[in-house]
Amino acid sequence: MKHRIVVLGAGYAGAFAAGNLARRLSPADTEITVVNAVPDFVERMRLHQLAIGQDLTFRKLADVFAGTGVRLRLARVTGVDPERRTVAVTGEDGEDGELTYDTLLYALGSSVAHHGVPGVAEYAFDVTGRSSALRLRERLAGLGEGGTVLVVGEGLTGIETATEFAESRPDLSVALAARGELGAWLSPKARRHLRQAFDRLGITVHEHTAVEAVEPTRAIAGGVAGPYIPADVTVWSAGFAVHPIAAASGLEVAETGQIVVDRTMRSVSHPDVYAAGDCAYAIGENGRPLPMSCASAGFTNMQATAAIIARLTGSEVPATGLKYYGNHISLGRRDAIFQMVDEDVRSKSWYLGGRTAARLKSGVLKGAGWGIAHPTFGMPKRKRRLATAPDRAGVRVAA
Ligand SMILES: Cc1cc2nc3c(=O)[nH]c(=O)nc-3n(C[C@H](O)[C@H](O)[C@H](O)COP(=O)(O)OP(=O)(O)OC[C@H]3O[C@@H](n4cnc5c(N)ncnc54)[C@H](O)[C@@H]3O)c2cc1C
Repeated sequence: MKHRIVVLGAGYAGAFAAGNLARRLSPADTEITVVNAVPDFVERMRLHQLAIGQDLTFRKLADVFAGTGVRLRLARVTGVDPERRTVAVTGEDGEDGELTYDTLLYALGSSVAHHGVPGVAEYAFDVTGRSSALRLRERLAGLGEGGTVLVVGEGLTGIETATEFAESRPDLSVALAARGELGAWLSPKARRHLRQAFDRLGITVHEHTAVEAVEPTRAIAGGVAGPYIPADVTVWSAGFAVHPIAAASGLEVAETGQIVVDRTMRSVSHPDVYAAGDCAYAIGENGRPLPMSCASAGFTNMQATAAIIARLTGSEVPATGLKYYGNHISLGRRDAIFQMVDEDVRSKSWYLGGRTAARLKSGVLKGAGWGIAHPTFGMPKRKRRLATAPDRAGVRVAA
């Protein structure tokens, strides 16, 4: 019987991993299935662009996996039973089903973190998923001149969202609420660049402001900007949260709900399960958890696939670098900041800003999308047999 590898999620981590596994393992002994809720590869890093009305094209996953042998199952994952090695799914037709795996790669990504703030679930919008970005797009399209938009959160997504919206829709009044100081973590020069960009785009910044509740036309804020900030539209960008499926399944998870993995991205509680991307609690070379980011999704899925292939084919597990280099933040389509960080995630004094950084970021986004469809570019094409294949008797399977 073939070894069944099931990959949950076809985002940056899962789609790349599934293609990589299929191109490097022999179809004579492995069967690779990827389960995803939607038929397209959704470039989450561009969802703020989608929300403000830019037209994006999404690759069909069926095209991404064409000719690779990967089976695509369009279904929503509703549960994992790591003792029975099964995954519960609900198909597009609403039918419930079950898949059995020998090896599972869990890569379901993340969605918006509400942090229990009243009114967020009811009235706020977000850009963390395609459907929520499209909902926001519709709302913004109906917002006339002078309409107020409040972006909550001074993290990377909040900054990218506020600047993109202000650049694309100068008729709107865009504000950002920051708990602390805007760009406090950047080097002094990069921070100055960021502030100048906000000034140029006319974005109002409410620093030291915690939004305590969201109402249909305003946010209730503690701190300097309180008690009310007018907002026809509130965009909640105060962080990502993982789906509760992993925690409910009995897999060992961190406080964040992310699956706790070892250096090879293997679950510390269930050796048949691997995790990659936002939902993996992986410790980087600097001893800190990797941040939820596309770069981390790259490192973790490369490490997970390398470990799965090595263990199945009886070779030594290679170590992929888990180093966090820095942040690349777009400030609309014509400006960006590339800030390098040191081993302790402190910003280095050097940064790149302006059009060159914007072009670089555009290249990174295009490269990430292209890489999904070409996961083994530059790698050996040989399809490897499993150590347990009948003609390979005696090959030791690594622990
Ligand atoms: C607007 C925005 C801008 C960003 N910009 C940057 C950036 O500049 N740089 C950076 O490094 N990171 C950025 N990020 C973060 C980055 O997008 C994520 O860290 C990255 O997408 C994580 O990859 P992933 O594969 O773990 O998850 P995802 O890309 O989210 O993929 C998860 C997949 O699982 C599927 N899925 C989820 N739940 C289910 C289910 N129950 N059943 C079936 N399928 C399911 C989804 O449909 C999706 O295909 C940004 C995020 C956003 C929202």
